[in-house]
Amino acid sequence: MNDSTGIHAHRLGAVRDRARELGIDHLVVSSGEDMAYLTGERIDSHERLTALVIPAAGGAPVLVVPSLELTDTVRRAAARVGAEPQPWSDGTDAVALVVGLVSGRVAVSGALPALHLVPLGQGVDGEVVLATDVIDAVRAVKTPEEVEQLAEAARRIDAVHARMGEFLRVGRTEREAGELITAAIEAEGLTHAEFVIVGSGPNGADPHHGVSDRVIEAGDVVVVDIGGPLPSGYHSDCTRTYAMGEPPADVAEAYAALEEAQRLAREAVRPGVAIGEVDAAARESLAAAGLGELFIHRTGHGIGLGLHEPPFVAPGATTVLEEGMTFSVEPGVYVPGHWGGRLEDIVAVTADGCRALNTGPRGLTVLGG
Ligand code: ZN
Ligand code: ZN
Repeated sequence: MNDSTGIHAHRLGAVRDRARELGIDHLVVSSGEDMAYLTGERIDSHERLTALVIPAAGGAPVLVVPSLELTDTVRRAAARVGAEPQPWSDGTDAVALVVGLVSGRVAVSGALPALHLVPLGQGVDGEVVLATDVIDAVRAVKTPEEVEQLAEAARRIDAVHARMGEFLRVGRTEREAGELITAAIEAEGLTHAEFVIVGSGPNGADPHHGVSDRVIEAGDVVVVDIGGPLPSGYHSDCTRTYAMGEPPADVAEAYAALEEAQRLAREAVRPGVAIGEVDAAARESLAAAGLGELFIHRTGHGIGLGLHEPPFVAPGATTVLEEGMTFSVEPGVYVPGHWGGRLEDIVAVTADGCRALNTGPRGLTVLGG
């Protein structure tokens, strides 16, 4: 996170404006990405309640925080949004403190545990709703600086993909390859490997496979989906598919159709378009190639401080694209028991179209084995 009070004051203002538009009187933001977005700090107080209570109409927010967690970091976080810390000690009913601070329609961030949400709902007089429509909508539209953070994260994960020939070898297990990939992700200065999928042969047909002890064989197709965050918290997420030796004609043909579907989906991205149209571009293209049944998930997800966050690129989704939105475009084809292929780039909506933040080769890369 940077230390600019300006950006955090701006975010708070945008969230307040949106809350008022939706007829919300108070926001209760719990630990998690929403808190990190607003205050610039990740604050985790485990089962003890930390909550930023924001009056939509104005006036200082209050940061309800366990007294033993009231560190310099937490004070800095509070100062960025002009919040008054309100420490509470063990034995105090922290939820009651929050109840005393809110009135009217209260919007609660999605990450607030049920442990606190249920008593909060019972304690307040007014209606309790999810803050998703408030905060997610603001978070979905990135500033140019945020887009550059995502571009930098993408550049680093692309550099790991560029070295894949060192990691994927015939005779190595997926797990061994995954360990080398993890080290390469960390060497790029990403804080850690958030996830590493090495789906070889039939394992490639499981979109959420991780790694296994399966030995990579000559002739395998291997799906590699990897990502990790920058120290600022902005994520990377990129999939490429590799072939251990020249692939058979049916695989090469299906992969070419996948590449075309992904290209058409990226071309559908521009301001004013409903995000469901992006999904439809990929889905209809694969259907036309006779592969529609093999594409079994949505086309993508938003990305930022969260790895998966709104907007979602799903059939029929109505979110209208705006400049600054960032999300993955990742159609796949999955042939159970045989192989899978996926192609994923993070893209940013520009003033008149689409910028792919991942720029590595998108074809089925043949590795020597
Ligand atoms: Zn991915
Ligand atoms: Zn993804």
